[in-house]
This record gives sequence, structure tokens and C-alpha cells, in this order.
Amino acid sequence: MPDTLTPDICVIGAGSGGLSVAAAAAAFGVPVVLIEKAKMGGDCLNYGCVPSKALLAAAKHAAEWKNVTPFGLTLPAPRVDFARVNAHVQRVIAAIAPNDSKERFGGLGVQVLEGVARFRDAKTVEVGNFEIKARRFVIATGSRAAVPGIEGLAATPHFTNETIFELKRCPEHLVIIGAGAVGLELAQAFRRLGAQVTVLEAATALAHDDPECAAVVLDQLRQEGIVIRERVTVTRVGQNDGKIEIIINDDESGPIQGSDLLVAAGRRPNLEGLELDAAGIKYTARGIVVGKGLKSSNKRVYAVGDVAGGQFTHAANYHAGLVIRNALFRLPVRANDGGLPRVIFTDPELAHVGLSEEAARARHKSIRVLRWPYQENDRAQAERLTHGHIKVITKKNGLIIGCTIVGAQAGELITTWTLAIAQGLNIRHMAGIVVPYPTLAEVGKRAAIGYFSASLTNPRLRRLITFLRRFG
Ligand SMILES: Cc1cc2nc3c(=O)[nH]c(=O)nc-3n(C[C@H](O)[C@H](O)[C@H](O)COP(=O)(O)OP(=O)(O)OC[C@H]3O[C@@H](n4cnc5c(N)ncnc54)[C@H](O)[C@@H]3O)c2cc1C
Repeated sequence: MPDTLTPDICVIGAGSGGLSVAAAAAAFGVPVVLIEKAKMGGDCLNYGCVPSKALLAAAKHAAEWKNVTPFGLTLPAPRVDFARVNAHVQRVIAAIAPNDSKERFGGLGVQVLEGVARFRDAKTVEVGNFEIKARRFVIATGSRAAVPGIEGLAATPHFTNETIFELKRCPEHLVIIGAGAVGLELAQAFRRLGAQVTVLEAATALAHDDPECAAVVLDQLRQEGIVIRERVTVTRVGQNDGKIEIIINDDESGPIQGSDLLVAAGRRPNLEGLELDAAGIKYTARGIVVGKGLKSSNKRVYAVGDVAGGQFTHAANYHAGLVIRNALFRLPVRANDGGLPRVIFTDPELAHVGLSEEAARARHKSIRVLRWPYQENDRAQAERLTHGHIKVITKKNGLIIGCTIVGAQAGELITTWTLAIAQGLNIRHMAGIVVPYPTLAEVGKRAAIGYFSASLTNPRLRRLITFLRRFG
């Protein structure tokens, strides 16, 4: 006979979304069961955000010697001990892991069960010897690397994000399939740490990002020696003479040969084994179908994070907050993933929130596009970080509806604009803000002032704008 548990909330998956739901529910004294089949912390901690940012940080240091000459310095090229780089990555994971651990969550009052959860019926989940009959269920099972059905791929050794961070040697020539955020962040990291890197993309690199800003990142990556080939279809993968051989459709120069292969061609939701049909939960290949309140077709069951169409840790956390409000306090909620920022942590960084210029033009009759280059920023000059710009999109009346920043610290700078859009601020608020001098944040203020200058015919006002630009 299985043990029957009757918590208020049963969470499936202990990644970013599941942990946030469980921690918040426990903080309100609600009985919670949390089920995890593999590692506590999920993708973000173990195979995603944390190891990738740790690897990028090591790579940034490895590239420093190339950038110091203008400062009057000469540094020798570094000797990269990749096993120690990997140890650094593992230490960063280990430092954060206690926050996500079974012990910590047990201490918070969450009952953590290890195993694969599956629905038996609309009201019951089974795991090992337990059956859980909860008032509410939250599915937070995340996603995994989508491995395309390329001929020969299954039989050819390849890495995904779940295995690449175990690598203790630097690949001689890493071929990456996929030029999205994951593929390009790792391309730059491995290149800077000493690998030759080729990235193959079936469509356009960074296709979801503002082309003008994406081009700044792609130029930099190419300048660093990364080969990025767009609009190529990988038709076959195999091994030849100890090398990985990749055949592409327009291959005039013969197959591409690499020492290692990384597949970073998108994500697939983790739905397998959950027996969703048994619980009347609708899903598609993109994940669990949820309404604005993140409820599935089974009203007892919510879905959050990547399995519900999210793509980021902060999206999973945001979803978790909404579910807590609705499930515990019966407050109406409406998820708006369109207002969430996203960052690609290459160097330079690419950060975006709200509507892109293209989307804004499609939605609104008249918009304003305001730009300001890092080149015109005093701090950027002092730091020699002049590569990049900000692009702010407003409605005709000045309402801020989108922002993209490419350049140093873009991921930090985007937060102000996220707040501005969330709060419905007008560009005049950003033009009037007092920004400490000299900071990169001034690029935002300068772009905002531009809203008032373009249509000015009054010479006195024009002089005022010039004054503000210089001293404001
Ligand atoms: C290389 C890489 C870099 C990334 N970098 C960033 C970044 O810089 N910033 C950012 O915001 N996002 C980043 N992401 C995305 C981020 O990792 C995910 O959006 C986030 O982890 C999603 O959280 P989640 O809770 O939905 O799922 P996950 O974190 O994947 O957690 C799901 C958990 O559910 C468990 N599970 C699955 N099925 C079952 C089952 N049947 N029973 C029990 N347990 C189950 C899994 O084992 C897993 O632990 C990155 C992703 C990758 C791959």
C-alpha cells in the first residue's frame, strides 16, 4: 500500500520555478511536497545559467591581455589549465547548491521526495511508494536540449548543455549547432579559452533579437575568430579518422571537421513520463497549455517555467510568484511574459525588454526610435568600452514600449528600462532622471533627451537640449 500524502501544494520539479513556488508556499506555512527526479536546482544551477556564466567569467579573464595595450600595459597571453577552469565552474555550482538543497528545503518545512512524478488521475500524483493528493499541483519540470533528427547524430558523440560543463579539456575545434543565446555564449567562452569554434545556424544568428544590435555582438564574435555560418542545414553527422564530420547542404569546401560537437539547437519541454493525459492536462510540443493565470486544462494544476513556455530563470520565478498569489490568496493573476527582460551574456552583452522596433512598427502607427552610442559616454571612454549603443522605442506620445542595449553591462542597465515599461513611464521621466556621473547609465538618459530634440524648431529650446546633453 502506498503512503498517502495530502499537502496543500505538490510541486513537480525542483528547478528555478519549482523551488520558488515551494519556498514561498512554505514561508506562508502551507504544507508542501516537492518532487525531484534528478538534481536539486534543475537546469539553471547544474547545466544552465550558473555554469555558463562561470565559464564566461573565466573566459573574460583569459581575453583581458588582448585589451590592455591602450591602457599602457602589456600582459602575457594566459596559459589555460582547462581542468582548473572546470574546477572553478564546479566550485561556483557547489557554492550556490546549498540554497537549493534538500536539506535547506527540508528546514523550510518542505517535504522533498526523490523520484519521477507521474499523474495517476486528475487528483493524484505518484512517486515511488507515495501517492500525493494535493489541493493544487504545480508542474515545473523544465526543458532539455532539443536534439534535431539529423542523420547520424544519435550515433555520433556530442555534447548538450547537460554534459558540456563536465569537460575537463579544451576542445581543439568545437563545432556548435545553433546560434542562439546558448550556442553563442558557449562559442565565445570556448574560443577565449583556446578552442577553434565554428557555429552553424539553419536560419539567422540571434534571430529573435534586434538585427542592428545583434550585429554588434556577431561582429565581435567574428573578430575574435569564431566562424559563424548562417542559413546552413546540417544534413549528416558522423566520425572520420577520429574527427567529428559535419555535412552541410551548401558544402562547397567539403565537410566540416571538428574535434567536438555541441548541440544547442533549441529546447524541448519535459513532459515525458508525467502521464498528463491521465489527469486531463492538455499539452503540445511546446509545453503544457496554460491560460494567463498559468492554470492548465485541469483546474487543480498549474504549470510554470520552461514547461509552460518560459525560457529564463527569472520567467520561472515570475510565474512562481503569480501561482502563489492565485493558489494561496485566490488573487486574480495575468502572466505577461512580454514584459520580461532577456540578456545574452556574451561580451558585449545584449539585453532587451518590451517591444522590438519591428514589433512596435507592426503594432503602432507612429513610434520614435531613440539611440545613443557608448562612444559618446565618458565612462565608456575611460574604460575603453565604447562598443555598443542603446535603442529605446517609444510611442509618439513618449510612452516607453521597448529597449535594447548592446554593450558593456547591458544586462545591468536593462533593469531601469524594465521598471519604466512595467510602470508605464514616459520618456520624459527618463530624460529628467539624475544619473551619477560618470556611469554607463548615462547612455539611457542621453537617448531619452533625444526624444525632445529631433522635432525642435525653436532655437532657444534647441540650445537648452544641447546644454542638457552636455551637462544634464
Ligand atoms: C546553457 C544555458 C544557459 C542558460 N542561461 C540562462 C541565464 O543566464 N539566465 C536565465 O534566466 N536563464 C538561463 N537559462 C535558462 C534557464 O536555465 C531555464 O529557463 C530555467 O532553468 C527554467 O527553470 P524551470 O524551473 O522551468 O526548469 P528546470 O530548472 O529545468 O527544472 C526542472 C526540474 O524538474 C525535474 N523534473 C523533470 N521531470 C520530472 C518528473 N517527472 N518528476 C520529477 N522531477 C522532474 C528536472 O530534473 C529538473 O530538476 C539557460 C539555459 C541553458 C541551457
